[in-house]
Amino acid sequence: MENIRISAGSASLLGLQSLKMETLPTCVHLLQYSTLGCSANCAFCPQARQSIIGNKKWLSRVSWPRFPWNSVKTRIKEAFKKGICLRVCLQTVLCNSWIDDMIYTARDLLQDETVPMSIAMTPVNRQTMEVLHDIGVDRIGIALDASSKGIFSKIKGKKISGPFRWETHLDALHEALEVFGKGRVTTHLIVGLGETEKQFTRLMQEIHEQDITLGLFAFTPVRGTALSLHPRPTIECYRRMQLARFLITRGFKKVDDFSFNKITGKITGWGMSRAKIEQIVHESKGRMFETTGCPGCNRPFYTSKPGGTIYNHPAPLSNQDITSAIQILFQEEIHDGDELDC
Ligand code: SF4
Repeated sequence: MENIRISAGSASLLGLQSLKMETLPTCVHLLQYSTLGCSANCAFCPQARQSIIGNKKWLSRVSWPRFPWNSVKTRIKEAFKKGICLRVCLQTVLCNSWIDDMIYTARDLLQDETVPMSIAMTPVNRQTMEVLHDIGVDRIGIALDASSKGIFSKIKGKKISGPFRWETHLDALHEALEVFGKGRVTTHLIVGLGETEKQFTRLMQEIHEQDITLGLFAFTPVRGTALSLHPRPTIECYRRMQLARFLITRGFKKVDDFSFNKITGKITGWGMSRAKIEQIVHESKGRMFETTGCPGCNRPFYTSKPGGTIYNHPAPLSNQDITSAIQILFQEEIHDGDELDC
């Protein structure tokens, strides 16, 4: 395996290229190099088989230039020694020899270094997970992306001629839990793929109860993908999902404490007063609006343009950011009459 892709921000962090950034990444993001991209067909992904982007250097809205693996590896080790990097994350791509290459990359990096390494991958068998665990990989991520079986089929599975199945992803997450242990397995969900807030929060609760760490992304349309014309979620909806995630995963509330609009499924009540929510947001310094997923990963501008609406804050929020997030959360009136059973 000679080459690897690295996110433009990570390449800048390692001094491989220069890029002006407001916030530097805290994690080096690697992407397996494949000239043809990925043989899967996820509807939101520029690496997908049917994405019409010719150049496979894009993932989400970020470019991933190619570099020789040996020079990247050397720079990663230097970055850890300097203390400018907290984690390495390898994103896999379905292509020939991707499993062998994934194992090689992890082993090559970890054989004489203790570096917290995550692998964001598609389902593999238990034996492969055990190999990764024994090499010293710290965490495994298997992204569900969709918040229901039906949406999964449309964006990753059968309905879009993709190879993935909802049940196989869930089984792989459970198997990863057995191999890596609680708190070391992550899944990501994308807000804005046609789900209701009720559906989304219910799944967040289920995932949390299974001891799987939960990361959120806002759907980001990318040119050339099947979902290029699909709209982003509103920032109001995204802030609600961030708050719901925080309340559920920190044990403040369960989904059954929330109330939802009967028709739209939108959250209409939190089971606590606005004053209490504001207190939680202030006391946590707005942590719920920061990037979520593995510890030590901030993914700056992965799904937000610099200068545009920041869906996942890559750095601690300012007082002004916190005030603005609270205003957004409560922009729409909550009517008691909208409440209903879940
Ligand atoms: S498996 Fe990953 S890289 Fe491949 S198309 Fe799906 S999201 Fe993109």
